[in-house]
Amino acid sequence: MPENRRRSVAVRIGDVVVGGDAPIVVQSMTNTDTADVAATIAQVAALAGAGSEIVRITVDRADAAAAVPRIREGLDDLGVHVPLVGDFHYIGHTLLTAYPDCAWALAKYRINPGNVGFGDRRDTRFATMIEVALKHDCAVRIGVNWGSLDQELLARLMDDNARSAIPQDSTSVMHEALVVSALDSARRAEEIGLGRDRIVLSCKVSGVQDLIAVYGELARRGDYALHLGLTEAGMGSKGIVASTAALAVLLQRGIGDTIRISLTPEPGGARTREVVVAQEILQTMGLRSFAPLVSACPGCGRTTSTTFQELAATIQEYVRERMPEWRRRYPGVETMSLAVMGCIVNGPGESKLADIGISLPGTGEEPAAPVFIDGRKVVTLRGDDIAEQFHRIIDGYVETRFEKRP
Ligand code: SF4
Repeated sequence: MPENRRRSVAVRIGDVVVGGDAPIVVQSMTNTDTADVAATIAQVAALAGAGSEIVRITVDRADAAAAVPRIREGLDDLGVHVPLVGDFHYIGHTLLTAYPDCAWALAKYRINPGNVGFGDRRDTRFATMIEVALKHDCAVRIGVNWGSLDQELLARLMDDNARSAIPQDSTSVMHEALVVSALDSARRAEEIGLGRDRIVLSCKVSGVQDLIAVYGELARRGDYALHLGLTEAGMGSKGIVASTAALAVLLQRGIGDTIRISLTPEPGGARTREVVVAQEILQTMGLRSFAPLVSACPGCGRTTSTTFQELAATIQEYVRERMPEWRRRYPGVETMSLAVMGCIVNGPGESKLADIGISLPGTGEEPAAPVFIDGRKVVTLRGDDIAEQFHRIIDGYVETRFEKRP
């Protein structure tokens, strides 16, 4: 944890704590139709299996609300006890009161203040949802999104700004509207009786600099636990880079108690990718450890075959596959470091710095791959099955280095 970590109020969400001294929590969201119970159970289980500590599901209509308790039961039957968060827009007040089993099965409700209604109706509906949360001892995320920002509030702030002696630019007013929407809603929830220890705030935007500015202000003005995420981050490397750039700056400043990476999956791609990216952001920043990381050189003109890339990919995949069992049986295994290097130039040196490293032969080098364990060369691998030999070496290292849980 950074020494400058902002002090926030701890919020319990099921068995998971967000904020306070708790580690930064990784969460994710399904993209199945929640009314499709089997598909949603399967995806939540996959996300939890990948390491998501909280999973959000859409609750957008009666069928979805009716499905929620069945999803909870199905997950419990599988031994998957990950807390579920219901994402409500427009009719959350109706669904939560008409489907009390849904309200009970969820550990947190996400309320978007921009999508609750207008005027008095907005206040009544918002109050209804908070009262249901109180009745079920449930946490709430007040999740503002600038795609659905409270337009009455924005218009009022724009008018105030126009009359101001020193008017701000429109982007600054928009930032202010996001922060005020979140803080005003949190204050109303507290007035209704919801404790600050049941409230998480988020203000999601899609621009990196906007996110940094908004969360900096949100953090400065209160001690609510904060959920970080760049909304609509996009697909592939763009989504990963934009999310990482924004979150890394905020996390380094000690801001953020839980994160979600809003990646658009590639066609046919796994939804669990967003969990892996969130974990890798936290792990590469030294904030948490989730799975052994594989260092690999980028390759260059000295690695003209694909052997090196294939081995690096195979090893990272192998480690991720083994992690569910290793995590259970060998506490601490997530801190193990591995290196896969392409040739003799930096290979032996980098490999010696990892717990286990392998230096593959570059173009024109002898077809042999020395393996280093704890800084010492222990064996040289040869043949067509170097990957399998190296997997066995990793397995053996895990068994001897980490104490086995009975
Ligand atoms: S270790 Fe070798 S193959 Fe890898 S980048 Fe350096 S010189 Fe190139």
